[in-house]
Amino acid sequence: MELKYICPRGTRDVVYPETEIWQKIFSTAKEIFNLYNYKEILTPIFETTELFIKGTGEDTDIVTKEMYTFPDKKGRSLTLRPEGTPGVTRAFLEQKMYVESPLVKLWYAGPMFRYERKQAGRQRQFAQIGVEAFGSSDPRIDVESIEILFLLYEKLGLKDVFLGINSIGCENCRPEYKNNLKEFLSSVKSELCVDCQTRFERNPLRVLDCKNISCQKFLGNIPNIQNFICEDCKTHFDKVRHYLELVDIKYEINNRLVRGLDYYTKTVFETFSRSSALGSQNSLCGGGRYDNLVSVYGGDKTPAFGWAFGVERLAMVLAAQKDWHKVPPEYFIITLGAQAQEAGFKLLSQLRKNNITAEIDYIHGAGGLKKQLKYADKLGCINVIIIGEDEINKGQFVLKNMVTGEQKFHPFNFDEMGNNHFPFL
Ligand code: AMP
Repeated sequence: MELKYICPRGTRDVVYPETEIWQKIFSTAKEIFNLYNYKEILTPIFETTELFIKGTGEDTDIVTKEMYTFPDKKGRSLTLRPEGTPGVTRAFLEQKMYVESPLVKLWYAGPMFRYERKQAGRQRQFAQIGVEAFGSSDPRIDVESIEILFLLYEKLGLKDVFLGINSIGCENCRPEYKNNLKEFLSSVKSELCVDCQTRFERNPLRVLDCKNISCQKFLGNIPNIQNFICEDCKTHFDKVRHYLELVDIKYEINNRLVRGLDYYTKTVFETFSRSSALGSQNSLCGGGRYDNLVSVYGGDKTPAFGWAFGVERLAMVLAAQKDWHKVPPEYFIITLGAQAQEAGFKLLSQLRKNNITAEIDYIHGAGGLKKQLKYADKLGCINVIIIGEDEINKGQFVLKNMVTGEQKFHPFNFDEMGNNHFPFL
């Protein structure tokens, strides 16, 4: 069959059993957010375009190249969210969340949209799960936030992941570093890629983020940002490192880690996977401190810290680590004849109401034992319940183990309410 419709470039369907991994990621993350007292927030999938221009930054790759922007019917410019932080920060202000508590800890999950070049590990629609904490400049918040991520990795059994961390200073100390970097890069400017030549003019820090090998070869000897950050930023970074060590989180300081978004201050970090499943797109999660974004959006200066990870990439690494088998129902019910269909359907309903997964054959109902057994086998069911006219008359059904071939009889044992008590379970 030639397919008439396929999903748009850069998007994909997530289907069973991959959805088992997704569910595991989501449920484990929710458990951990709960432990750390982070509350869920849901924001719109589209926002006004200006929110991202002002927040994410007008010179960023996201804003200049990757946004899905469109006018609505009244000509207002809207954008499908390329990342979660601007929308959550807007909601923090719009919902006056700061009134409730001096520290507001939030988590979100949902699809993000970036018009990126199609390549492995990069999609145009992808899902992110993220956290944001507003109100504290305490370095322990940075570490608590990163700890959430590492507890998630641990609970998911993720292997070969490492943390890269850096401080990119603040509005007081970064300008001097930028000037220094610019000076350093000026001698090689003509050899940088076209994008980096623009970055050089607008924000030379971005050059450090360039994935182009032609640019990377010049970055080996760049001035070290740690020699430029002010006392306040330095103390903050020292404390972050101290607390990371206190809670046994290993890190590598990476002076070239600057992150591609405009709003970061002080701590920035990224986690990377060494798994071959990801190839060159090995970044699993990115985040950091953004002490100025709330005020850029017109609020009082409010320190904040957050991160987001891509669900697809994490799922890919987990899938490569372990086979995520299909999970068959615990029981499969085979019915032979009209009366048995009724008894089987009743039993099915009761098994499920007792939290026992079960399935019945709706396809080969009239097709006899052989076809139904074959179907049960195809689904991978091990325990098969067989009900025929004989079994009804005897008040017993057959319980067959598909692996050992062993068969037992079990009474239906319905009480006066018509409920079976499953003595065999
Ligand atoms: P960012 O929001 O750019 O800091 O990215 C945070 C994380 O989101 C990355 O580490 C990836 O795991 C994921 N991510 C970002 N962009 C994409 C994309 N185009 N496709 C899939 N995952 C992405």
